[in-house]
Amino acid sequence: MHEMSLCEGMLEILQQQAKTQNYSVVKTVFLEIGKLSNVEPDAMRFAFPVVTRGSLAENATLEIIEVAGQAWCMQCEQNVVINQRYDGCPLCESHQLQITDGEQMRIKELEVA
Ligand SMILES: [Zn+2]
Repeated sequence: MHEMSLCEGMLEILQQQAKTQNYSVVKTVFLEIGKLSNVEPDAMRFAFPVVTRGSLAENATLEIIEVAGQAWCMQCEQNVVINQRYDGCPLCESHQLQITDGEQMRIKELEVA
């Protein structure tokens, strides 16, 4: 389950930011997870309290914002929504797609004290 190490990476970011932004407790983490990122939101919810135990984010709430996958279809010349990386265009079934959104996992916002 690679979500464990993703959570560890996130905790490192939180600890670094705590120094530069002068906070000591993380209350809420708003985390964007793209549908095409290969990150399982449920696995993140499971890993988060395990990884943050004893840290500045020990009692933090993890709020996950799921971001739809989007791609530019060269055939249709428009943005389309896709659910998986190797899906074709839902309109014309073409695979000439350029992914434009939904690959990210990033901290969108923090509530700190
Ligand atoms: Zn298309």
